[in-house]
Parts: sequence; C-alpha cells; structure tokens
Amino acid sequence: MSVNRPTIEPGRLFIDGEWREAEAKGRRDITDPSTGKVITTVAEADASDVDAAVTAARRAFDEGPWSRTPGRERARILHRVADLIRKREDELVAVESLDVGKPVSLARAVDVATAAEEYEYYSAMAQSVDGSTRQIPIPSHAYTRREPLGVVAAITPFNFPLILSSSKLAPALAAGNTVVHKPAEETPLSALLMAEILAEAGVPDGVLNVVTGGGAVVGEALLRHPGVDKIAFTGSTKIGRHAAATAGEALKSVTMELGGNAANIVFEDADLEKAIGAVIKGFVFNSGQFCMGGPRLLVHRSLHDTVLGILEGAVAGVPVGDPFDPAIVVGPMAGLRHLEKVEEYVGLAKAEGGRIVVGGERLDLDGGYYYRPTVIAGLGNDSRVVQEEIFGPVLTVQPFDTEDEAVAMANSTPYGLASGFQTQDLARAHRVAARLQAGIVWVNDWAMLDPAIPFGGVKQSGFGREYGPEALESYTRVKSVVINLS
Ligand code: NAD
Repeated sequence: MSVNRPTIEPGRLFIDGEWREAEAKGRRDITDPSTGKVITTVAEADASDVDAAVTAARRAFDEGPWSRTPGRERARILHRVADLIRKREDELVAVESLDVGKPVSLARAVDVATAAEEYEYYSAMAQSVDGSTRQIPIPSHAYTRREPLGVVAAITPFNFPLILSSSKLAPALAAGNTVVHKPAEETPLSALLMAEILAEAGVPDGVLNVVTGGGAVVGEALLRHPGVDKIAFTGSTKIGRHAAATAGEALKSVTMELGGNAANIVFEDADLEKAIGAVIKGFVFNSGQFCMGGPRLLVHRSLHDTVLGILEGAVAGVPVGDPFDPAIVVGPMAGLRHLEKVEEYVGLAKAEGGRIVVGGERLDLDGGYYYRPTVIAGLGNDSRVVQEEIFGPVLTVQPFDTEDEAVAMANSTPYGLASGFQTQDLARAHRVAARLQAGIVWVNDWAMLDPAIPFGGVKQSGFGREYGPEALESYTRVKSVVINLS
C-alpha cells in the first residue's frame, strides 16, 4: 500500500498535558535519512524542562488519579490507545518511515502493528496486577500487594522508536506508574505523535510527559533527578553502563536493554532454503540496525561454499532504496554517523583480510544514507569486525566443524541478547538452545518477537526483561501486609 511523505509540524515538549516550547527556546533539526535534508525541528530541552516534566509526573503519581485508578479503568484507556494506533496507522507509518528511513512495508507490518499489540497485551494485564495471601503460623491475615514504582524515566534508542517506547510505556502505565519519556534525539517524531494519541485515549495530564533532546543533557538530567524512581533504558552498552552506574548511586530501579551481536548457526542438517531466508532476514532487517539481528553467520564447513554462493546472488537481489516505495525491503541507515560506522568496519574487514562476497559500498541515491547489504567471508573469530557490534547491513560468515565449536563461537562475544540456529534435529534444538548465552533463542527462523515472549540480555547486553508478565512485574514492587488477628 503506498504512503505519501508527510509534512511534519515543528515539535514541542509534552509536559503535564500541555504542548510547550523548551524553556531556553532550543530547537533541533530532524533529518530525512533518505535525502539527508531537514524535514522539521523539535524542541531541544534542558535540565529545567526535565525538572518540569518530572515534577508533573511526580504530582500525577503522588496525588493520582492514575496510580489509584482501578486496573480495569487503566485497561480501558490503554485499549483505546491500541485502537487509536490502528485508526491512525497510515499517519504513524509515514512518520516512522520518514524519521528513521524504514521501508513503509516494514513500518506498517512490524512497527505500527507491534505497538498496537503491545498496548493491547498490557491493557489485558492491567486488570491482574495482583498480590496473594500467605499462610504463616500465627493468627494473622498476611498478604502481598503489587504496587507501582512511581515515576519512570523511559530512555530509548533511534532504531525502533515506536516499538521500544511502547514496550516501556504500556507495561509501566498498566501497572499505574507515571512516565517521563526521552526518545532518541535523531528519531523523536513518533513519540510526539504517541503523546497526542495517549492524551486522546484518556491518559490524564502529567501521566505521560515527552521531553525531546540530547542524551548528555536530557538523558543525564533524568538519570540524576531525585524525583525519578526507575530508569528503563534501551541503548548501547557504553551509555547503558554509565546509566546503570549513575542510577545505582541513587539506588534507583533499573532495567538495561543494551547492545547485541548475535550468531546465527546453520547446522549441516538445516533446511537450507529456510535457513537462507532466516539468515538474510536476520541481517538486513531494519538496515541491520537491530539489536537482535544476526550479523554473524556460523555455517557448517560442508555447506560453507554452497551457502556463500547462494548468499551472493540472493543478497544482491534484495531491493534497496526509497523507503516510501512499498516494494523496498532495505531503506537508508537512520543517520550519517551510522553509515560512516559501517564504512569504517567494512574498511577494517578488508584490512584484516576479509573478502567482500557482495556489497561493500554505499548506494548513491538522492543524497540518502544508503549502504548495500554486505557479506564478508574469511575473517577470524577474534577479528574486531566479528566481535564488535556494527549495527548495519553487514554479515560475516565463518565455517565450523562441530556442534561444540559452533556453540563456543556463538558465545564468544561480550554480548548475549539473542542467538539462533537452523537444524532439523529436535534433540539438537533443545540441547543447543540450552547452551547459548542469550536472553532469547530462535530455532528455524529469526526475529520471532511478540509481546508475550520476554526478551533481554545476559552479559554486556544488560539485564531485566521487556515483554511478557516479566516486564509488567519490573514496573512494580511487592509490599507485604501482616495483620495480627489474635
Ligand atoms: P545510545 O546508547 O547512543 O542512545 C540511547 C539513548 O540514550 C538515547 O535516547 C540517547 O539520547 C540516550 N543517552 C545518551 N547519552 C546519555 C546519557 N549520558 N545519559 C542518559 N541517556 C543518554 O544508543 P543508540 O545509538 O540510540 O541505539 C543503538 C544501540 O541500542 C545499539 O547498541 C543497540 O544494540 C541498542 N539497542 C538495544 C535494544 C535492546 O532491546 N536490548 C533495542 C534497540 C537498540
């Protein structure tokens, strides 16, 4: 379905139910990655705006009504959010595609559809934020209550703005918290549209506040603000480490959803056609700007040359270009800095003796930040290109001989967000799934995600889980009440 490029009004901050300019009147340009041209500006907040947003969220939490609204009523409002997302689907698709450079087909089928499902899923769960009764050997009535934490600072990265803000806001709000949301400075547009949608759905003033601006100022002010109870952070391991340490100083609750560098293992018994599909999806999806992508292909030596041959043709045929063309699968990178990082890593791969099987260069189109999907063979496992997170449409391919070797190579990076493999052997599926160091493991496909399935990191990919009842619980704390009946 075709979508037109929208015109975007300049964005303002959303604080206490009102649209406001930043107190210091700062503005930031927002660029269309498919042309490199400025499409609009948004307010550039500073610490005083963060303080106003946290104060509004604090008041909305402490005085209510949201934190005291019955779960069923919160559920109704969050369900309306899901309905409004679907009603305004075209608008959200256009904004997300324009801002991030996502193909409209991807933005519709994945980003906007998933955001609606996230609100739907947690709206159902808002009705069962329950405690339980406990038996103890004295005459008493003892029970637990599950209570919201308070003010949540939701800090999100540039690559899936709508999905990742909804994956925090939906459970946080379902549990009765209030939120100050800081989207990534490069891609804040859908967060502003969602503020409008949540208000229209009936989320009261002060319950959701959106503050746009840079990490070093707005993000930092949120980490340090004494009125914030929880930091829900998604982003790079480098910034996450700093965020966790800063929040830890003040003993704030934290969840850290950080970087990844997953391996996709193709065993000798794989269904090759399906395996190739999973491999390509795993590294070109969202121009490779996917924390749970599969940029490291480990393939059994007996299949290595065959797989490289198939990939050479298939990857060259992936349609790359204007994200507003419904037939396009890979759009531009979201910003120039991401494109330059990919170029740097491909240069390093060549210097380290890697062989470019396909791609390996920019695609010159309309001044946009395009990079051709790229496959690199011949690198050793300790190559930086293999070990580090590139975050672009680049796949390295390495052979292995045994299952033990494949598992060791898969687990050999500092990251542990996702992992996956392709096999027809059921016993191997369970055996290898148990040995992979990752928060989520996919077998015979890639990127099977759903709000019901928790994901999150181990090792340097962070801690805490998004999705599932696990995420909802992470926005609550347990209080015990014991009443002496004697
Ligand atoms: P980033 O770490 O540069 O930025 C993430 C957010 O942190 C942004 O909103 C940024 O403004 C903010 N920030 C920056 N400095 C800050 C500071 N000093 N204090 C507080 N906040 C600050 O990440 P990015 O480049 O936007 O996103 C890419 C990274 O995110 C990749 O590493 C990717 O793997 C990771 N990621 C992880 C997941 C996951 O679920 N684990 C999902 C998506 C992306």
